[in-house]
Amino acid sequence: MQIVCLDLEGVLVPEIWIEFSERTGIPELRRTTRDEPNYDKLMKGRLALLAQHKLGLPDIQKVIAEMGPMPGAKGFLDGLRERFQVIILSDTFYEFAMPLMRQLGMPTLFCHKLEANAAGVVVNYHLRMPEQKREAVKALKHLNFKVMAAGDSYNDTAMLAEAHAGILFRPPANVIQEFPQYPVVQNYAELDAEIEAASKKI
Ligand SMILES: [Mg+2]
Repeated sequence: MQIVCLDLEGVLVPEIWIEFSERTGIPELRRTTRDEPNYDKLMKGRLALLAQHKLGLPDIQKVIAEMGPMPGAKGFLDGLRERFQVIILSDTFYEFAMPLMRQLGMPTLFCHKLEANAAGVVVNYHLRMPEQKREAVKALKHLNFKVMAAGDSYNDTAMLAEAHAGILFRPPANVIQEFPQYPVVQNYAELDAEIEAASKKI
């Protein structure tokens, strides 16, 4: 039995923080796990910036609702889900992801949670557990699944390493250099073909 684990941002939807940064004109919010591999450092910085600029959850959600998935993402995901069970493993938050999940046909999503106060100000973030992408793959292996995983960034590499087959989707040059063991694909047709090929090998 085989299962596919996909990263969300940079694979099926745009980078939420980058989009938010552009619409709010706060360049410091552009930093992602591509720039800062230390996730806690990255998130604390983001929350501080939001507070500093008095931006709450409703402002962020409004932007996200208008973003939409990447062109072709829904068709790719629908086709994949006809052939494989698919779980999206993301370091985003349910509060951010829901408008996009609706546009993707509500696939299964494992991610994290934000804490906002009554005024809508994001006061904290809660990771369900550390290294949740890798731990999810490990748990699926215990359930006797063969796991294929695809992602674009540093925060996916532990998941890729844990899976029976790992694939990089449009990664930045530094990730390609550091992780030359994974095949690199640039579009959904290539990703679909690579998953098919992996499914025959694992
Ligand atoms: Mg990503």
